[in-house]
Amino acid sequence: MTVSVERIAAFCADIPGIAVQDEARVLAVKSKDYYWYSQILAEKLDDKLGQLLVLPTTEQEVITVAAAAAKHRIPITVRGGGTGNYGQCVPMEGGIILDMTKLNRVLDISEGRIICEAGARIEALETAAAQTGQMLTMFPSTKRLATIGGFMSGGSGGIGSLRNGMLRDGGNVTYVRVVTVEETPQVIELHGLDILKVQHAYGTNGIITAMDYALMPSVDWQHTIALFDGYDAALNCAADAQTSGIDAYLMTAVERRFARFYKRLEGYFPADRDAVFAMIAPCDVDAFAAKVASHGGTVTVSQSLHAMEAANLPATWECGWNHTTLQALKVERGEWTYLQVAYPRPFDPAVALRQQERYGEELYFHHEMARMDGEIQIFALPILRWTSKARTYEIIAEMERLDGCTIFDPHVITIEDGGMKEIDTAQIEFKKRADPHGLMNPGKTRGWTADMAQN
Ligand code: FAD
Repeated sequence: MTVSVERIAAFCADIPGIAVQDEARVLAVKSKDYYWYSQILAEKLDDKLGQLLVLPTTEQEVITVAAAAAKHRIPITVRGGGTGNYGQCVPMEGGIILDMTKLNRVLDISEGRIICEAGARIEALETAAAQTGQMLTMFPSTKRLATIGGFMSGGSGGIGSLRNGMLRDGGNVTYVRVVTVEETPQVIELHGLDILKVQHAYGTNGIITAMDYALMPSVDWQHTIALFDGYDAALNCAADAQTSGIDAYLMTAVERRFARFYKRLEGYFPADRDAVFAMIAPCDVDAFAAKVASHGGTVTVSQSLHAMEAANLPATWECGWNHTTLQALKVERGEWTYLQVAYPRPFDPAVALRQQERYGEELYFHHEMARMDGEIQIFALPILRWTSKARTYEIIAEMERLDGCTIFDPHVITIEDGGMKEIDTAQIEFKKRADPHGLMNPGKTRGWTADMAQN
């Protein structure tokens, strides 16, 4: 389903002075994100296209666009950096792609908090925070391209989550400013836990124009590589480091079969060793080295980001979370896809080792240490040798049934079928207010049905 040329023209007439682009080449790029990690999603989404890219530069321009879209009943897909993995900013019914990257101003920085426009790139915020001796509590490894509004609306956690929790955990975001999509748009401010009404809502219930984000005092994290003789030792060490309270911003265990994908780590991550990649607080470097030794491993690199860059080594955040998947796909594209696994708490490494044995060459594992609801939570984002949709879902069902894991399915486009598992009624209630005509990112939430839309 797409919008008629006449309706798009009428929409354009109502947004004078606001930049738009409609070249086929631009629309093709801006209608995609990183859904290509999934062959299942690629088949579903490859032919989906937006019809007009709109680039507002101020909240007032966003309001003008929202009003015109509502008046002409044109679907709106909001887009930040376009680095989401589940087709979150792929327009399913054509219409407008609303590019937020020109709303990128830092509005205020105080102790512990930054306030900014939603289209600001996360790395730019990091740079601004650094000038005040502070850093972000967490970020995705895509921070160079990803926007803070996109992280809020499509992300869940990342580098730093081990120390500071997931995005939803209280305090990381406490303020959001949302423009509604109706003939006379409103600006709604959400504070405290109310921000959950739009968190991970995939831009289905309002356009976020500004928000805050938590900062912490800067730490010169030591990028650390530890090598082990077996994945069991690597995993046990990483898990043990958590329970013994070592101050780390990142802790990832990666099994040796990934070594061939980590081209820039040749000589540092050999194919006969399993690794832990970590960012350790300077005060805990010795304690961590002792912990590694107690598990039979050796620390081979422990240095600042600056020294890593000078040695042409990747930051350790490029060795974990979904960057690991990217490394593999870059080398053997088409051969792999991936899964997202949450382990039951408390984590039992034996479950992960059992899975490694059960799936042999079909799955390669790496495990991410994080904190969720204040407790240690272990995730894995194993790469899966691509064979078929049927086999993918057989493995998902098996891990849920045999291992008690929760799989956040990365091969689906709706919020509920992926991470959230159930319809978030508070988000749907908010959508009734913020998107009463049901124009925002159609097809991405099962909680919204056609009968809910106002005419
Ligand atoms: P986009 O992809 O542009 O948008 C994401 C969703 O948010 C879309 O549904 C879009 O419609 C909506 N949206 C965007 N801006 C707004 C707005 N202003 N108002 C309302 N809705 C909006 N994610 C993690 O959570 N943690 C990770 O560690 C992580 N690592 C990654 C590593 C790799 C290699 C890759 C490819 C992806 C990773 N991701 C991760 C996913 C993604 O990069 C992040 O979630 C990122 O923050 C998304 O930001 P973005 O600006 O690219 O969002």
